[in-house]
Amino acid sequence: MLADFHIHTCFSGDSEANVDSIIQRAISKGLKHIAITDHNDFEFEDGKFELDIEKYYEYMTNKKIEYKDKINLSVGIECGLEPRFADRINKLMSSYEFDFVIGSSHVINGRDPYYKEYFENRPVHDAMVEYLESIIENIHIFNDFDVYGHLDYMMRYAPVSPEEKRYNYNEYGELFDKILTTLISKGKGIEINTSPLRSGLTDTNPNMQVIKRYKELGGKIITIGSDAHKPEDVGANFNDAKTLLIDAGFSHFNVFSGRKTLEITI
Ligand SMILES: [Zn+2]
Ligand SMILES: [Zn+2]
Repeated sequence: MLADFHIHTCFSGDSEANVDSIIQRAISKGLKHIAITDHNDFEFEDGKFELDIEKYYEYMTNKKIEYKDKINLSVGIECGLEPRFADRINKLMSSYEFDFVIGSSHVINGRDPYYKEYFENRPVHDAMVEYLESIIENIHIFNDFDVYGHLDYMMRYAPVSPEEKRYNYNEYGELFDKILTTLISKGKGIEINTSPLRSGLTDTNPNMQVIKRYKELGGKIITIGSDAHKPEDVGANFNDAKTLLIDAGFSHFNVFSGRKTLEITI
C-alpha cells in the first residue's frame, strides 16, 4: 500500500477536515505512513492561507505521538513558493523541525491559476509557459524543500476541455527538462498528485510523460499524494498511482521522516 504524502486538514484555509478523522481514515485504509502537509501561502486572499505555524506544529507533533502505534505520521507543510517572500518562506521552512516539506507554485506573479483571471486574454500555452518559468525561478531561489508539488497544477484549471488539457511533453519539453534536471541535481523529488483524477480528469499532476522523463533523466525521489482536503479522499486513486509508477519504470516510492527519505519497494 502506498503512503499518502500530501494531505490537508482544517489548519489549511481551504479545508474543514477534522485531523482525527483524516488520520483514522488513513488507518482504516491500511496506510502505514502519511504526511499532513497543510498550506502556507503568504499574503494571499487576505491571509486566508497563512498557517498558524506554532499552533499547527505543536498540534501535529502531539498527534504523531498519540497515533504512533497505529501509523507513522510525518509532520509536513506545503509551502507556496514565491520569490518576493523568499526571506519569510526560508525562515518558516527552517524554524521548525518538519518531517517533510513540499514546495509548490500556487501564486504566480500575484495570480493563482485556480481563478480564471490567470488565463484571461492569452492562450493556455502562454499561461503554462509563465507557470513553468516561475517554477524554474523558484527552484533556483529555494533549497529548503524535499519535493516539488503538483508540477503542472496550472493545467487542472485551464479553461479548456479535458482533452485539451492533455498536452504533449514536447510542447514544453525545454522548460520541463530544465525543471527536472535542476531538481535532480539538487537532490529534490517530485510527487504524483492524484487530485485531478477525482474531478474527472485523466491525468495526474504532473502527467505520465513528465514522471517518465524525470525517471529517464535520473530522478529517484517520488512521493504519492492525494492532496485530500477531506477524509474520504485520503489515499484516493492510489491504484492508478501505482500503475503510473510501474509504467514509468519505478519499483519504489519515497517517504520522509525528519527530512530524510526512505525508498519503499512497491
Ligand atoms: Zn498545492
Ligand atoms: Zn495541497
